[in-house]
Amino acid sequence: MIPATGTQEGAAAYPGLDAWRSLPISQQPDWQDGPGLDAALTELSSAPPLVFAGEVDQLRTRLAAAAQGNAFVLQGGDCAETFAGMTADRISARVRTILQMAVVLTYGASLPVVKMGRMAGQFAKPRSSNEETRHGVTLPAYRGDMVNGYDFTEASRRHDPARLIRAYHNAASTLNLVRAFTQGGFADLRAVHDWNRGFAAHPAHVRYESTVAQIDRALKFMAACGADFDALRGVEFFASHEALVLEYERVLTRIDSRSRLPYDTSAHFVWIGERTRDLDGAHVDFLSRVRNPIGVKLGPGTAPDDVLGLIDRLDPEREPGRLTFITRMGAGLIRDRLPDLVRTVTDSGATVLWITDPMHGNTVTSPNGYKTRNFDDVVDEVRGFFEVHRELGTVPGGLHVEMTGDDVAECLGGSDRIDQEAFLTRYESVCDPRLNHQQSLELAFLVAESLAG
Ligand code: PEP
Ligand code: MN
Repeated sequence: MIPATGTQEGAAAYPGLDAWRSLPISQQPDWQDGPGLDAALTELSSAPPLVFAGEVDQLRTRLAAAAQGNAFVLQGGDCAETFAGMTADRISARVRTILQMAVVLTYGASLPVVKMGRMAGQFAKPRSSNEETRHGVTLPAYRGDMVNGYDFTEASRRHDPARLIRAYHNAASTLNLVRAFTQGGFADLRAVHDWNRGFAAHPAHVRYESTVAQIDRALKFMAACGADFDALRGVEFFASHEALVLEYERVLTRIDSRSRLPYDTSAHFVWIGERTRDLDGAHVDFLSRVRNPIGVKLGPGTAPDDVLGLIDRLDPEREPGRLTFITRMGAGLIRDRLPDLVRTVTDSGATVLWITDPMHGNTVTSPNGYKTRNFDDVVDEVRGFFEVHRELGTVPGGLHVEMTGDDVAECLGGSDRIDQEAFLTRYESVCDPRLNHQQSLELAFLVAESLAG
């Protein structure tokens, strides 16, 4: 039995949880409508937590193992989840793709893979501009379904606090389905392997047949040894998102009745984005006060002093599993910028988990005007990440990707050779371009090869 987390009343009295309110804060909605915000927060303050403290602690243990080289983390999902995209088909396709990738990575790394969705709460987006102009009309930028709508109308782009409640309920239903899928037989190792067999049977993917054949032999060997396949029917699956809108994260922060400590119960793992990681800002302060494992995105401009400051603020106890650095340098810069940061952290004595996000440093605009990424750049950044860690003797602990289980066309290349013409009919993302189902699997096979090699 996992002890329930406490009530918002408990969290209201907990010291420091509101200190962020007096600090500089960026990328927040402009709700304008005071009573609407109060009503939404009052409703959410008595809503049940989405995750339980015991699960969050379990994840911290798993991430500690990854930080020490005894597990590998796979974190993936949409750039921005939408309420409309929350259908059973899409959720199952995404979970299925993550499970497929995880099997390949487990084989490649010969390590357990910690599976984490950018899912069930990834509804708020930082933007480089507050406004968007189309055909001479300027409206507020889209900031994620938790804040406003993607439709380019004044009504839809208004920041609406009632969306906080919708975000909570959408996260709850997504998580409910994910829990059902991952515990109810859908995640059976043999079924997942069969799906991968289907992928490798396609003529465009012949080069991956030998990896699939090797996994096949490993499974037969396990079966011959009498492995308990029933125990492999379920998997652990964790939820994560960027903790951006602090009113939402705050209202879902509850006091665990067992440890009397605050947990952000909106997700198991939350991260701070590249744009909101100021050491003296609200986001770092708030997340320093919750017990969840925390990630921080690090772009190519990150200075060694920044990472030392983040460790001091977010992981003062130097607790393995507490802090993850998600690097997103770009394929052209990773080999140049990452080594100094890794050396600085190692010298500081902290054990952080290093994860590569090969998406956000590699965004370009296609000649026909779409925000995209080249599959080859994504692969190259991952390779650079592994090279740097191998050279320094540190642990390349995981992979963070924007991906979907659907057959969209948003990133260029891959064996299926997605080209910019395909964007005209199959580009669906409301924010950043995602790897589609095939590209995601292909990336997993390539990473598995380099892990094994
Ligand atoms: C994201 O993960 O979608 C994102 C905005 O990333 P970053 O903070 O690294 O720019
Ligand atoms: Mn993104």
